[in-house]
Amino acid sequence: MTFSIHGLAVARGVAIGRAVLVASSRLDVAHYFIEADQVEAEIARLRVARNSVVEELQRLQKDLPKDAPHELAALLDVHLMLLQDEELTTGVKRWIRERLYNAEWALTTQYEVLARQFDEMEDAYLRERKADLEQVVERVLRHMTGAASPVAAPQPARAHREGELLLDDRHDVPLVLVAHDLSPADMLQFKKSVFAGFVTDVGGKTSHTAIVARSMDIPAVVGARTASQLVRQDDWIIVDGEAGIVIVDPSPIILAEYGFKQRQGALERERLSRLRHTPAVTRDGQRIELLANIEMPDDTRAALKVGAVGVGLFRSEFLFMGRHGVLPDEEEQYQAYRAAVEGMQGLPVTIRTVDVGADKPFDEVRHDEAHLNPALGLRAIRWSLSEPAMFLTQLRAILRAAAHGPVNLLIPMLAHLGEIRQTQVLLAQARAQLERAGTPHGWVRVGAMIEVPAAALIVDRFAQGFDFLSIGTNDLIQYTLAIDRADETVAHLYDPLHPAVLRLIAATLDAGTRHGKPVSLCGEMAGDPALTRLLLGLGLRSFSMHPAQILAVKQEVLRADAARLRDWALAVIADDEPAAMLAASA
Ligand code: PEP
Ligand code: MG
Repeated sequence: MTFSIHGLAVARGVAIGRAVLVASSRLDVAHYFIEADQVEAEIARLRVARNSVVEELQRLQKDLPKDAPHELAALLDVHLMLLQDEELTTGVKRWIRERLYNAEWALTTQYEVLARQFDEMEDAYLRERKADLEQVVERVLRHMTGAASPVAAPQPARAHREGELLLDDRHDVPLVLVAHDLSPADMLQFKKSVFAGFVTDVGGKTSHTAIVARSMDIPAVVGARTASQLVRQDDWIIVDGEAGIVIVDPSPIILAEYGFKQRQGALERERLSRLRHTPAVTRDGQRIELLANIEMPDDTRAALKVGAVGVGLFRSEFLFMGRHGVLPDEEEQYQAYRAAVEGMQGLPVTIRTVDVGADKPFDEVRHDEAHLNPALGLRAIRWSLSEPAMFLTQLRAILRAAAHGPVNLLIPMLAHLGEIRQTQVLLAQARAQLERAGTPHGWVRVGAMIEVPAAALIVDRFAQGFDFLSIGTNDLIQYTLAIDRADETVAHLYDPLHPAVLRLIAATLDAGTRHGKPVSLCGEMAGDPALTRLLLGLGLRSFSMHPAQILAVKQEVLRADAARLRDWALAVIADDEPAAMLAASA
């Protein structure tokens, strides 16, 4: 029966496919398709792993001391029984045979199916067996790690977000990931995976998970509350990333309607792609800089493809995530920054120093700090200044990359004047270290992110101390309105058009003009075409956003008359209801 789930729209487009439920703890399990002639080898690989676990458990059973508690022996029996359970083994084989999932993926998929059945059991004892099943599956997965079938090279799925739906062809069926939560580090895995869209129970519109979805340009809905409980493994679902709706088990009429919507989206993209080489100039001749936000050096390809004139924000922290505490050293960082600089072929690259913390922990381990209100904690520049050796390493790597092309250095989350001074001292120190060692390095322009209201309120001091400013509206909104950007329960209050937010943006732009310092805006507002005219009217001339949004914003720029928008924009921000004024003029 068709039903829909409402969440928050985070990334445009429509995905239609089968649901793959994955527990976030198991996202690091490889997801790829095997070839049809690899099916038997894949099943054999699984059998070998399972047999090893059976032997391991039997050994444990045999070596159990005489005085061991009776429960322990009973538990081993249960584990052995679960391991040899028909439903588990047949189910896993089915996912491999019919869907061509690799063995690990097939195993975790069948685990999710059985776990759901356990959850629904009346009997509390049986319900608790889910944890045993999980342990058994973990053991088999551990045995399989490193034992991947040598012929089973990862095969990315052919995405069918646009055009024809191929409902029956085994691995041409698009897959949509449904999870309770996805961390930004999970998203890095996700970037390499086969999914055509995703849905999570938690998360806000500008949570970093949503931000990465936007950078991948795939439909996604976050904050869908109960989605991971209501959707079942392998259900057909539609993800409407624009409306924030997930439709489960759609009827043929709904499927046809969304198929049409997908095709319209594809046509619109095709139309916009023709603007790639058109200079971003307003009708009154103002040249507007449209820059890209990137997470990884490789993203520069997508940036160039849509005609970005530089990178306005390289979120360097993504190089640091999901590495289990082993942070990249100077050489590794230098190679990554250099790859981005060379990737942009002479266009400027703005590298932001590591912005770790809040909803971007390095590793899951750091999640235990969540109760401490990490958005207000040791985040971004605060963390860098508290780890000077790490910070100097990063600064040296960035300065070295600057020998290969134009680089801007951007400092996140500054609020205190003391932080400016400390940053400048460390930067001078990093430069001196490179000079002493005779290591080639280049000159960088240094900018401050204005994303804490305190910085926006004394923005003149920041404009004096830096070569440029960049407004981080994602955090500026969060901190001005006291709304956690990753919390779906207060997402309705997260308002980019709140007059207080708009006035802080306007004040920052004015300070830039007064001090002759360029001001860019790199929060998600920059990529929202509905806000382009307002931001142009307030004086913004440099927008940085995900490559996927650049052409739609360019279209707005080409239609705008910036000078004539000035008075209207000032009236909008002076009004109590800017959103209503904006809607009225749309
Ligand atoms: C911002 O806060 O607007 C920003 C661009 O940085 P991030 O989203 O990475 O916090
Ligand atoms: Mg920020």
